[in-house]
Amino acid sequence: MIRKVIVLGSGSAGLLAALTVKRKIPQLEVEVVRDPDLGIIGVGEGTTPNFPKHLFDYLGIKRRTFYEKARPTWKLGIRFLWGTRGHFDYTFAFQLDKQFAGLKMPNGFYCDDEFTHLDLASSLMHEGKAFARQPNRAPDIQPWHAFHIENHNLVTALEDEARISKVILTDAKVTGASRGPQGISALHLADGRELHADLFIDSSGFVSELLGKVLEEPFVSFKNSLFCDRAVVGGWQRGADEPIMAYTTAETMSTGWCWKIEHEHHVNRGYVYASDMISDEDAFEEFRRKNPKVPDTPRIVKFRSGCYRRTWVDNVIAIGNSAGFVEPLEATALMIICSQCQALTELLQQSMLDPTPSIRALYNKTKFEEWEVIRDFLALHYQLNRADQTPFWDRCRHETDLSGIGDLLEFYRENGPSGFGRHLLRETVNDFGMEGFLVMLVGNQAPYLKKHRPTDAEWRVWKQRLKQHAEIARAGIDVKESLSYVHHPGWRWHGDAA
Ligand SMILES: Cc1cc2nc3c(=O)[nH]c(=O)nc-3n(C[C@H](O)[C@H](O)[C@H](O)COP(=O)(O)OP(=O)(O)OC[C@H]3O[C@@H](n4cnc5c(N)ncnc54)[C@H](O)[C@@H]3O)c2cc1C
Repeated sequence: MIRKVIVLGSGSAGLLAALTVKRKIPQLEVEVVRDPDLGIIGVGEGTTPNFPKHLFDYLGIKRRTFYEKARPTWKLGIRFLWGTRGHFDYTFAFQLDKQFAGLKMPNGFYCDDEFTHLDLASSLMHEGKAFARQPNRAPDIQPWHAFHIENHNLVTALEDEARISKVILTDAKVTGASRGPQGISALHLADGRELHADLFIDSSGFVSELLGKVLEEPFVSFKNSLFCDRAVVGGWQRGADEPIMAYTTAETMSTGWCWKIEHEHHVNRGYVYASDMISDEDAFEEFRRKNPKVPDTPRIVKFRSGCYRRTWVDNVIAIGNSAGFVEPLEATALMIICSQCQALTELLQQSMLDPTPSIRALYNKTKFEEWEVIRDFLALHYQLNRADQTPFWDRCRHETDLSGIGDLLEFYRENGPSGFGRHLLRETVNDFGMEGFLVMLVGNQAPYLKKHRPTDAEWRVWKQRLKQHAEIARAGIDVKESLSYVHHPGWRWHGDAA
């Protein structure tokens, strides 16, 4: 029977885990142990839509408080400067896994040439806006957005929420652990103390102090599908003339890709590259050429893409980078952290705080499958790019292992952008849905055999729908003006409890 939980680490993973467990199961004693000298990774600033849902709907954190402390901006999707089209937008709403009324085929069959304005979010991205306006001119903030948040602001906001929820925060360095029949029996601290608990959540970051180091669980590398393993990171203070875009930009580079994340006062850039194909110095030079405003001193972050096959072993469960990491092309780390926290909490509740081996096995199976889906989705981004002719992109086209979705790709090649392909995906563990895969295939103009030739009447229906989205978006409201609304003392969030 679990009564006490210790969380090792207070990065975004540790704090989200502690907060989720404590808010949902308040009778548990939850203590976070973290070494302030080690600090946190300090990167991880784009989210997916499940993140605001987790904070506000699942945990009940007040939007007003969170917006004040964390100062997020909105992300409607990712603009890919990628592939033969030059660019395309992946929104978090539905563009392709649907069929407009009056058409004979799903939307993707009409996108051979043009792929914009298929939904309101893509029109808003196209017009540099964040939201449509309400009749009173205020932003109509829809639930299909994600966030950009500076990592330190996020961690500070989560720490405040953890304190309010009576999570104990202890500063101490963990130097090792004793093993017992249930997994880990005690953590050893540098000051000589020992800490005991019934469940240990390992959120120690890439070092994976408990799961990887103490329990020595085997790590499954994704290096056959994802070749990048480093990022050079930098940014600058936003100038008054630089608009804040409501999307992340991901653009191809010679040996990887570069992100642009839009904060209120800061622009954050990072070049993700394969260190066996370009040196750190050359990557930094290329990064600086693209972004002359970044400072001279590069920050290089090393990572490996992959995960532990089992992330819940006896009384240790890893959450965050300690469980696995898949490079940040779709900003999936916080997404999977939220899903890990929810699954753990619900399984603890439903096992009456006494989780059985079959509960742990089920958790491990579903989480590992989630990682595999993310791996395949990201690998597809790389494999499909036909525009960049460099040794790196050549390698991506020819050597990327996509065997996990081979049948889906064959289905697409024969049948085109039909939503029926979803039956070839592991739907219960796939957060991107068929929509995500279709956006990559259609966005990159992946060839398929059965083309639809729309009639003139169909084209009229099609153009009318796109025009409607574009008109609403043009009258929309941009990020700066929307921020001024939500930070105004008179603003009311309808979802917040009184
Ligand atoms: C280049 C890059 C870009 C990324 N971009 C994104 C993104 O856009 N979106 C996204 O969701 N994610 C992104 N991530 C992932 C991001 O790092 C994670 O989302 C997130 O920050 C979780 O980190 P963490 O809490 O697991 O680890 P950390 O932040 O590293 O925290 C580890 C904690 O453990 C503590 N600790 C470790 N060892 C000990 C010890 N022995 N004793 C005591 N305390 C200890 C540390 O002090 C710290 O508190 C990115 C990652 C990389 C590498």
